[in-house]
Amino acid sequence: MTEKRIDLLNLDTHELTGLIASWNEPVYRVRQLQRWLYRELADDFDAMSNLPTTLRTRLKEETTLGSLRLVAAQNSADGLTRKALFQMADGQTVETVLMRYLDAPGSPEDSSDPPNVARRTVCLSTQVGCPVGCPFCETGQAGYIRNLTLGEIVAQVLYFARVEKRAGYEMPLTNIVIMGMGEPFMKFNVTWRAIEAFTDPARLGMGARRITVSTSGYVDGIYQLIQKHSQVNLAVSLHAPDDKLRDVLVPVNRKYPLRELMNACHAYVQATHRRLTFEYALMDGINDSPQQARGVAELLAGLLCHVNLIPLNPTSESPYQRTPYARVQEFQRILNNAKIPTTLRVEKGIEIAAGCGQLRQKITQHNSQMAALPLATSVGQ
Ligand code: SAH
Ligand code: SF4
Repeated sequence: MTEKRIDLLNLDTHELTGLIASWNEPVYRVRQLQRWLYRELADDFDAMSNLPTTLRTRLKEETTLGSLRLVAAQNSADGLTRKALFQMADGQTVETVLMRYLDAPGSPEDSSDPPNVARRTVCLSTQVGCPVGCPFCETGQAGYIRNLTLGEIVAQVLYFARVEKRAGYEMPLTNIVIMGMGEPFMKFNVTWRAIEAFTDPARLGMGARRITVSTSGYVDGIYQLIQKHSQVNLAVSLHAPDDKLRDVLVPVNRKYPLRELMNACHAYVQATHRRLTFEYALMDGINDSPQQARGVAELLAGLLCHVNLIPLNPTSESPYQRTPYARVQEFQRILNNAKIPTTLRVEKGIEIAAGCGQLRQKITQHNSQMAALPLATSVGQ
């Protein structure tokens, strides 16, 4: 049966106020309810002890606390990365990843309780599948189904905020990266509403600088972000220094070629004075030659940016392989010599298929027979 109840996570403060007012409830109930939703992280209306029973009953009957149901979860061997697959009301699935970074890298045997984790980052999805269709990406290869709603995006974050709260962290999450399944700028408005939910002091109240959004190069979205005068971080998936190769690796390049993309990037830096990140997944023999490294350096010369080199996470179908480490270093050296700062992304949870769309693909292929933790908890209801 299709869900007719209102997903409370779909409502911003103004919309929630409208709902509460239409029920002839006093406006201060909005603050109380939002506190339960986003601070106390309640997953049950009965926990909302300062709301009168009549209101709780009506909320139970007419609304939901999110519409995601956990169907599978996986932990990395070191316990630091955790991946969840959620099912939505229409049966579609999306995945979300929690990545914990230790204070002192290389000390996984940390015995403090909860473990001394410096950063707890959620990587969330914005679409079921992705229409961009990058050939090295599991999500892109799986095809596109639909955009997520605001409530479905926010519920992914709340799920892991609850996990970390239960683990004993006072500030459950420190960072959010919009880098899971989907192209976040295809539906800029929904992504922006999600960013507002994360930063709104009445909801998650997180600093905008703790949030990063990654785009495959939707130039329109970059300009829309500029208009918002926001402090969120922007990452652009570059992956190739020329249009011919980028047309293949990141097919949205056919719509927004590199010249247009770079113009938008310059406009972004000029308007925000913020440093851009470029993601570059190194693929053996495809985009990793010294000449291509020099091409990247030329393309990015004079721009306030840094390049995040990512070891490719080979997917089940694609022919692309990871660049050997020696060539990664050579690529990095060329960029650094050209005064372009680089980082080499730490491989988080690669053994649990934490790459974009990979858990979902596994589950689909094996029809849930994988060694997933059978967690029965649902998010919200
Ligand atoms: N659609 C957006 C955000 C989600 S993908 C984008 O493309 O930017 C997040 C990042 O993971 C992108 O840089 C993407 O290119 C990269 N990625 C996708 N599949 C990958 C794989 N198999 N190995 C390494 N990086 C991958
Ligand atoms: Fe979509 Fe990003 Fe995957 Fe490309 S890399 S298919 S844009 S999710």
